[in-house]
Amino acid sequence: MVELTIVVPIYNEVENLERLYRAVTDAVQPHAESYEILLVNDGSSDGSYEKLEELAGLDSRVKVMHFEKNCGQTAAIYAGIKHANGRYIATIDADLQTDPNDIFTLMPYMKDYDFANGTRVRRQDSLVKKVSSRIGNGVRNWITKDRVQDTGCPMKLFKREVGESYVLYEGFHRFLPTLARMNGFSVVEVAVTHRPREYGASKYGVLDRAFVGLMDAIVIGWLHKRSIRYKIRGE
Ligand code: UDP
Ligand code: MG
Repeated sequence: MVELTIVVPIYNEVENLERLYRAVTDAVQPHAESYEILLVNDGSSDGSYEKLEELAGLDSRVKVMHFEKNCGQTAAIYAGIKHANGRYIATIDADLQTDPNDIFTLMPYMKDYDFANGTRVRRQDSLVKKVSSRIGNGVRNWITKDRVQDTGCPMKLFKREVGESYVLYEGFHRFLPTLARMNGFSVVEVAVTHRPREYGASKYGVLDRAFVGLMDAIVIGWLHKRSIRYKIRGE
């Protein structure tokens, strides 16, 4: 079993792939004895396919999966998690808005926690995005009865048991810490760095997330309320 799997969902990120590979490798190599970079191509049509194949050909630690068509970010992350060989699984976005070095800001917390969620303390996005995200986090926490500051932060690290416990539906990648807690795992939030997107474009507008995100939160709230939790006497 490898020590660490880095899962990256990729949809039309061709300008980012080379630098992503270099940044992740530079960050991980000094720390992890064995690792794999699992790049999940969510049906890109911009040349990401060819670039990913090239990277996989150069380095056996790079594993690529190509979806037949675009299935969404949750599907890409889910496929990555379910195919990961690592004892620990890190997720990041392809755009390098979070710094792969922060995987090792989170790693020490694996001693006492099962899931470490990054918090983008100085978030480098547009004001509209920051405000909508803050409102989104507030509404999500209110509905799901959780208290996650930055559930959408792409930088996360968790134990493989957490990944094994997930049953995800489209949109659920925004609730991974809450779902981990619901499945009985401990969660910690840790400040990480954030930078502006340098290449490529964001795949989301503000409004496409607002309404669907609200519906998703209601579903998660319902799942939380209806979760079955029992303990057998004497066990
Ligand atoms: N992504 C994906 N499938 C999609 C949309 C996005 O795999 O249908 C990937 C994208 O390539 C990136 C990550 O998910 O690595 C987050 O997307 P983006 O950076 O556009 O979102 P933002 O950070 O702007 O919220
Ligand atoms: Mg991004």
